[in-house]
Amino acid sequence: MSEEKIRRIEDELRKKTMILEELETFVVEYSFQTKELYIDPVKEKYIRVAWDKQAMIDKKIDNLVYRPDIPTAKPLLDFTKIETAENCFNKRNSAMVRIFTDKHKYAWFRLTRIVFLNENKMPDKVAVLFTNMDEKAETEQNLKFYAEKDILTHLPNITAFLAQAQLLIDNNADEDYEIVRMDIDRFRVISGMFGIEEGNNLLKFIAVKIQERLDEEDEVAYCRIASDIFAMCIPIKKYSVDEFIESLCRAVSAYPKNYEVTLAFGRYQVTKEDREQKVPVSNLIDRAAAAQATIKGNYLVHTAFYDKNIRRQEEAESMILSDMHTALREEQFQVFLQPKVEMGTGKIIGSEALVRWLHPKRGMISPADFIPIFEKNGFIMELDKYMIKHTCKIIRKWLDEGTVVYPVSVNLSRVNLYNTKLIQDIEEYVNEYQVPREYISFELTESAFSADNSYMKMLAAKLQTKHFKVLMDDFGSGYSSLNTLKEIPVDILKIDLKFLSAGSDNERANLIIKHVVEMANDLGLFIVVEGVENKEQVQFLLDIGCRVAQGFYYYRPITVEEYEKNLN
Ligand code: C2E
Ligand code: CA
Ligand code: CA
Repeated sequence: MSEEKIRRIEDELRKKTMILEELETFVVEYSFQTKELYIDPVKEKYIRVAWDKQAMIDKKIDNLVYRPDIPTAKPLLDFTKIETAENCFNKRNSAMVRIFTDKHKYAWFRLTRIVFLNENKMPDKVAVLFTNMDEKAETEQNLKFYAEKDILTHLPNITAFLAQAQLLIDNNADEDYEIVRMDIDRFRVISGMFGIEEGNNLLKFIAVKIQERLDEEDEVAYCRIASDIFAMCIPIKKYSVDEFIESLCRAVSAYPKNYEVTLAFGRYQVTKEDREQKVPVSNLIDRAAAAQATIKGNYLVHTAFYDKNIRRQEEAESMILSDMHTALREEQFQVFLQPKVEMGTGKIIGSEALVRWLHPKRGMISPADFIPIFEKNGFIMELDKYMIKHTCKIIRKWLDEGTVVYPVSVNLSRVNLYNTKLIQDIEEYVNEYQVPREYISFELTESAFSADNSYMKMLAAKLQTKHFKVLMDDFGSGYSSLNTLKEIPVDILKIDLKFLSAGSDNERANLIIKHVVEMANDLGLFIVVEGVENKEQVQFLLDIGCRVAQGFYYYRPITVEEYEKNLN
């Protein structure tokens, strides 16, 4: 070959490479004659993983192509198959697949296979163009892909999972399935400390590890639900879920970063009844979640099964949810009063309104069983409004009958901090029943989240401008601090002995209470001590200058009639 010709060919190749680079493409070429594979050096621009030529020729592409796309990529990267002149052009010779660009990182590439024929119309070489498509997310494939996949991890998304798991369960009557819900312990702390990018890398890593362990061909389903939450539907005749969990934990604990990653699992085994009643998969995930919730914050136990206790509790909860509206309408909620007593004389000088649910079938239900549920679904705002109204009604009755009136404090849940209508509602009832404002006051509890304190401050201040007294409830429970006391305008401090376990023999707790009382006196705050259960406590409290107590030593929460009997 003349030098002239070689230069021409080289020029031609350079031009081609330039064009390909411009198109974000590199080429891999295999010659059927020499049996050699050529990899365009431009590949390095996109892919930091080394490619083993012989492995590629041998169709070993696990390190090259992201696992779920291997079946799609294989025919395009098959260098042993020699297409004949007739069929090499009418076959589908292009597809989108994900190629590993780095460890645990992949990007979309379009693979296009072109077969070149020699003068005798026989295959001479095959070229595969790799075109980087990651930027071109708007392509049709991507749209379809994103409808079914989770953008970050490329696992199926929750919609796809629900459909797929339902199909598996419905179509495989002889197989038993377990629904597993998984998340990462303190994931928010991890991404808070190491950044969102690092958090995302961890999620992708875990997604790959799940996929390596659960083969889609084995009729399993899995997905990332959101954030750090994953779900799986696993056939338990094919897989041991215990082993899967163990192996996944092992893989994840080897995550090459200097922080510990711990996974938590909630497990639910799909029953015959679930299948008969066609319980939707989303409900089954909820059950796995309920199981998982029982070990939240437990550093020793990382898996939990849904069991009878959880079922019973869920049934109780759903009963409460289905009966609550009727209960409100039919006034099954009752105001009980727990007197506040002047310790020196034993005389009642006020009370706290505490709700009791008199259920027509279940009898009296304690607020501990329903208040947390109402706080979760917001119904507590309705209940608090109801309690305000009925307390106003009671005070009106006392005023009308000439009974001596001592102030009643009503609890306002912290969910109300965001209720803009609250003050308006309070004023409406107070006006409707013409209750002088010194007779009704409000107990607020500090929130566990310090960010909420500004709202609490605002609410307390608003109540005070409307001439209502504000009590800070549960002072000493751990949420409240001396600092917030300085910030939040309150009139009365309620110290709960239960949080301080005071008694004649607890020197430290007694010392704390003593100082809190001194400080409250200095700040001009009135004090009520709650949870007073015995004579020793009363004596101690009197000694350090407290006057008013509320507790079982004097009265339990009692009905309005009983309260009235105990006056004078
Ligand atoms: P809380 O506001 O701290 O109410 C005081 C609780 O302590 C009451 O429980 C009362 O019965 C109990 N208690 C009083 N004295 C003693 C004592 O000497 N020893 C012990 N061990 N306990 C004592 P209860 O009535 O079961 O209420 C529990 C919680 O439910 C209340 O705690 C309050 O947070 C909430 N709650 C009750 N009624 C309402 C309401 O109408 N609205 C709102 N938002 N929450 C309410
Ligand atoms: Ca209270
Ligand atoms: Ca309290």
